[in-house]
Amino acid sequence: MDRPASACAPRWESPATLAEAAEILRDAAGSARAIAGGTDLAVRIRRAEERPDVLVDLGRIENSDGVELRPEAGAIGRMEIGALATHATLAEHPLVREHANVLAEACRTVGAPQVRSRGTIGGNLANASPAADGVVALLALDAAVWVQSASSCAGDAGAVPIVDFLTGPGESVLRDDELIGGIVFDRPSPAARSVYVKAGQRNALAIAIASVAAIFEPDAGIVRIALGSVAPTPVRAGDAEALFESDWRGGADPETLFDAVAAAAAAASSPIDDVRATARYRRILTEALTRSALDRICLRKA
Ligand SMILES: Cc1cc2nc3c(=O)[nH]c(=O)nc-3n(C[C@H](O)[C@H](O)[C@H](O)COP(=O)(O)OP(=O)(O)OC[C@H]3O[C@@H](n4cnc5c(N)ncnc54)[C@H](O)[C@@H]3O)c2cc1C
Repeated sequence: MDRPASACAPRWESPATLAEAAEILRDAAGSARAIAGGTDLAVRIRRAEERPDVLVDLGRIENSDGVELRPEAGAIGRMEIGALATHATLAEHPLVREHANVLAEACRTVGAPQVRSRGTIGGNLANASPAADGVVALLALDAAVWVQSASSCAGDAGAVPIVDFLTGPGESVLRDDELIGGIVFDRPSPAARSVYVKAGQRNALAIAIASVAAIFEPDAGIVRIALGSVAPTPVRAGDAEALFESDWRGGADPETLFDAVAAAAAAASSPIDDVRATARYRRILTEALTRSALDRICLRKA
């Protein structure tokens, strides 16, 4: 993004570290905003919905966009993703595709190539839209968010589970002087299969009307199901997951079980009517998308 040039443009700061960025935010006492890819924030500034005095550009912070798989003693390893990783990077990254394909698939559905090459996963999270594609996948992966402030480092001590991080549409637990440093989650088992399915008003440049991220762990006989665009935040379909776990191993007929699990997922939604769809349509879509996801990951249908 170009440096703002007009006389009343915000002051532009380019810190070299996350800690420095957090200090600038703290000192500005609410009048500064972090900017990563700018795909959400630049739109809000242009519409005069936000008028920050200072923009803190995170784009020059080193080692903030990496993807790593860390083997852990006695565990199967965990993925660590820097907040500045773009959707384009995550959609194609070999580690993400191999170990967390649901996230790669979700990032592939974001906007258009220009948006994917600028927009970051940290911005997707901080923006806290109920429709944020990357966030729905991260919720299914049981990810946690590393939070950095001027007084504490981003790391495991300050990791907040995504389920606690998001508090409402456009709202999270992040304070004005805090930043997202990265995201961490345990790698699903090697046998796991996952999928992200999204319905929008068209195939490209479409915000989700409803979306489903699902992960099937055949060894454990469990599924994890997260729903997007059908509640104030992305939500997990806990009752649907429990129903699957109790009946899958008992040898239930898959078609009957998947119907019941999909209906339970739709029941976990609390959608609203808006310009993109009615609440009723969103519930129907959630059931159909969940049914399709289960077919694809549990029965390996195309
Ligand atoms: C045309 C268009 C289409 C889009 N389509 C989709 C879509 O299909 N799916 C989807 O999910 N999103 C979509 N978006 C929204 C947007 O692209 C994503 O939410 C993107 O991930 C935002 O990331 P960013 O780096 O651009 O954030 P920015 O715009 O830089 O920042 C967004 C907000 O997050 C804060 N922020 C950014 N990084 C951090 C950080 N590390 N720590 C703390 N706060 C931070 C900023 O202060 C700001 O409040 C679309 C946007 C546009 C313009």
